[in-house]
Amino acid sequence: MRIEDDNAAAPARVLVVGASAAGLSTVEALRRKGYRGEITVLGDELHAPYDRPPLSKQVLSGAWEPARAALRTQEMLAALEAELVLGDPAVALDPATRTVHTGSGRELRADAIVIATGVRPRTLPGQDGLAGVHVLRTLDDALALRTSLLGCARLVVVGEGVLGAEIAATARTLGPAVTIAGPLPAPLALQVGPLVSGLLAELHRERGVVLRLGAGVEGLTAEDGRVAGVRLGTGEVLPADVVVVAIGASPATQWLEGSGLRLDNGVVCDSRCRAAPGIYAVGDVARWHHEQLGRLIRLENRTNVTEQAGAVAAVILGADQPYVPVPYFWTDQFDVKIQVHGLIPAGAEVDVVEGDLAARRFVARYRSDGVVTGVLGWNMPKQSRLRRAEIALSAPAGH
Ligand SMILES: Cc1cc2nc3c(=O)[nH]c(=O)nc-3n(C[C@H](O)[C@H](O)[C@H](O)COP(=O)(O)OP(=O)(O)OC[C@H]3O[C@@H](n4cnc5c(N)ncnc54)[C@H](O)[C@@H]3O)c2cc1C
Repeated sequence: MRIEDDNAAAPARVLVVGASAAGLSTVEALRRKGYRGEITVLGDELHAPYDRPPLSKQVLSGAWEPARAALRTQEMLAALEAELVLGDPAVALDPATRTVHTGSGRELRADAIVIATGVRPRTLPGQDGLAGVHVLRTLDDALALRTSLLGCARLVVVGEGVLGAEIAATARTLGPAVTIAGPLPAPLALQVGPLVSGLLAELHRERGVVLRLGAGVEGLTAEDGRVAGVRLGTGEVLPADVVVVAIGASPATQWLEGSGLRLDNGVVCDSRCRAAPGIYAVGDVARWHHEQLGRLIRLENRTNVTEQAGAVAAVILGADQPYVPVPYFWTDQFDVKIQVHGLIPAGAEVDVVEGDLAARRFVARYRSDGVVTGVLGWNMPKQSRLRRAEIALSAPAGH
């Protein structure tokens, strides 16, 4: 699929929907590349753009004041000369006239529209309105969770992915007994494979986290409108005063239903991150055609946001280049910093190429069909970054 823009000249007006990392990075990239036209940024949150990775780490632990998560100072935002419209959600898009309608009744027209609305946390049935149950996506979520954890004896985290494991690690430093529940055998089993997820399981156990993994979660139990436990598929109930549900997120595309854009686990885009002529998507919400991998991908990680914003800004200004990044994410749990470059497909062969497992400082290399697809550093950030060059992204044979 390749979508052609109908207007090769730089657009006079750009509208960015979503005032967070992806939206802000796009504006900054446009200005850096010399764009002098009008820019409006529309966001539904009231806060000025802030960063999310610290929310499960420094903000949740209390090491940072919430204000430190702000992405830019007021002066830096003002210097961008972009109109920031906050606290007003986009509710509809008409791609033909490039008009966005907002909850408060605004009608914003532009020559180019950038969709940067991110994702929303998934929830469990019966979770809404139940006291003591949290998700973690926004600054307000992080502050509410921190307040709950400070007075809590038993926390159950539902979800053994990156976010669930980070929350569990941070929560342990705040006092409560912490249990992680989820269907996979070890934390991050899907993201890092059996070797490293086994080490993460050891790490969490050593630091006092109880792992109740390998059993699905059926739902929550409640008493007097407050959560009382987490019911596993086995019928067992894990008692809890506070529950965090970290079972993944869905692209925030509801407002685009009926727009005619292709929505399928994100805003589907061509290799230039273009969803329709003059309409682009960037960040967690974007599912674009990665030319080297030969398929659509969507990434939910911080580094992609900045890189993709730069690529989209270039395309808006007339460049014709595909976006073909080597995916990258990091996670911090207790005193361990993990970096993952590239991809770790299920069943990939792994060998340790630097450091050693026993010392808990190593670089692991992952291969599929003899080709290096990913590199993981465990407390070895620099060494893992240097080996990134070994990664060869390609479409599977026969593709
Ligand atoms: C707690 C937490 C910890 C993380 N830690 C890491 C980490 O350690 N490493 C890593 O690589 N990544 C991490 N990530 C992921 C990273 O933060 C995301 O990839 C990044 O924030 C995505 O940015 P985004 O701008 O695409 O989406 P978002 O940050 O979700 O921003 C989208 C914005 O659009 C707004 N919006 C949604 N719908 C509308 C609408 N209809 N109208 C107007 N505005 C709308 C949203 O409210 C939001 O403000 C973490 C994420 C979280 C939540």
